[in-house]
Formats: sequence, structure tokens, C-alpha cells
Amino acid sequence: MRKEIMGVSFDDVTLPQAIAAGEELAKGPGCAYVVTPNPEIVNMARQDPAYGAILNGAGLVLPDGIGVVHAAKILGTPLQGRVPGIDFATGLVARMAETGLRLYLLGAKPGVAEQAAENLKQTHPNLIVCGTHDGYFQDAAPVAEAVKAAQADVVFVCLGAPKQERWMAEYGPATGAHLLVGLGGVLDVYAGNVKRAPAVWQKLGLEWCYRLLHQPSRIGRMAKLPLFLVEAAREKRKKG
Ligand code: UDP
Repeated sequence: MRKEIMGVSFDDVTLPQAIAAGEELAKGPGCAYVVTPNPEIVNMARQDPAYGAILNGAGLVLPDGIGVVHAAKILGTPLQGRVPGIDFATGLVARMAETGLRLYLLGAKPGVAEQAAENLKQTHPNLIVCGTHDGYFQDAAPVAEAVKAAQADVVFVCLGAPKQERWMAEYGPATGAHLLVGLGGVLDVYAGNVKRAPAVWQKLGLEWCYRLLHQPSRIGRMAKLPLFLVEAAREKRKKG
């Protein structure tokens, strides 16, 4: 079931449910994409309806940020919990290693996707990574062709928002893949360049705080988050 939070319709699913749904889409005949909006992405959609339509057109819309979960509660439409994009991706990788689905890694600086592939294959020796490409290309169409030539079933698209969602919506069908997943900085984490918050911080909903301490340059982006909750409270009052 989908719940509308500040203009974006989120799937109200647990992490295992999300992984199972992702696997179904990856095995299916069509071409779907997954988005993992945090408050920053929801705010972008509020300012750009065309981008909002791309988010709402996804096969799965997962609440990546704790801010989305808080806003949902404030709005009186609570979600079961946070589904971080990286946890979804990691769960899907485990399933792909078992089923033989082919994974393509797209995004980040040159060399990062290759390193990420190597590390993933260390933990999942049966995983098929059928190709990689960095995220700093000029022409998008040849990249879609490269994915198609690699016969990928699933593509992790890590170009940052809003670029990755726009790319998936426009070029997804041309890749021939069944599932594309927009994952921001996940390849940097898989490559070992960026550390994820320890589990305790994640459980306490403080992953954003850990990220800020390690990448202080994100302060401008994060300063807008409290405002997001104020906006949610305002919207709730409007709706009565
Ligand atoms: N990136 C890219 N192409 C671009 C811009 C960004 O591949 O044109 C990559 C960047 O190297 C990083 C990721 O996209 O790996 C964005 O990371 P960020 O931390 O901003 O995303 P978040 O996890 O916050 O969504």
C-alpha cells in the first residue's frame, strides 16, 4: 500500500518485503525503477512537479531517510519504518548471487564502480557483475547501450539526485534491464571510500548525524531537514 507524504507516494513496506518485491520486478518481463527518497529529494519534488511525477512513477518508492518516517507520523499516516536504499541494495545483491541475475554498476568517479564490484564479489562469490561505468559521462544514450550490451537484469544507478531518477525514467527501457535502482552514494560505500554509520547510530536514527560529522560539507544540505518537519506539521494543520 502507498502512503502520500508531502506529495510523494511511499510504499509502506518493511525491508524484507521491499527486497522480495524488488526481486520479483527484477525477474519480471517489464522495466521498473526504484527510488529511495529522503527529505531532500521530497523537497526537490515539491519544487519540480515533473521530478515528483518521476518519483511517483517508480515501481517501488522506499523511505530512505528517518526524516520521512518522522514526517509520516506527524501527518497521521505512519510508515512501518525506514528502508535505507543501501540495505535494500545489499539484500537484493544477496538474492541475485543465489538466482544468477546479472548486475551492472553505474555511477561515481572513475574506478569506484570497479572497486565496488570487486568488494561485492568477495562477499558474494557467485554474484555476476556484468559491467561497470563511471557516472561522469557527457552522453547518456551510449551508456544505456553499454548496459544493454552487457545484458544486465538489474542496474544500480548512483549518479546522485535528481540526475539518477531522471536517467532511470528516460533511459531505463533502452537498457533492456528489468530493474534500475537509484542509490546515490552507495558505490562509494561498497568501494570502501565512505564509511557507513555503525549499527547503533543507524538504530537510533542518527545516520544523518554520523554522515555530517564525517562530511561536514553536507551541512548546507542538511540544515533544511528540520524545516521539512515544520512543513509537515503545517500541512497536517491545513488538512485538519
Ligand atoms: N555522481 C555521479 N555523477 C554525477 C554526480 C554525482 O556519478 O554527475 C556520484 C557521486 O560521485 C557520488 C554519488 O553520485 O558517488 C552521489 O552521492 P551523494 O552522497 O550526493 O548522494 P546521496 O547518497 O546523498 O543521495
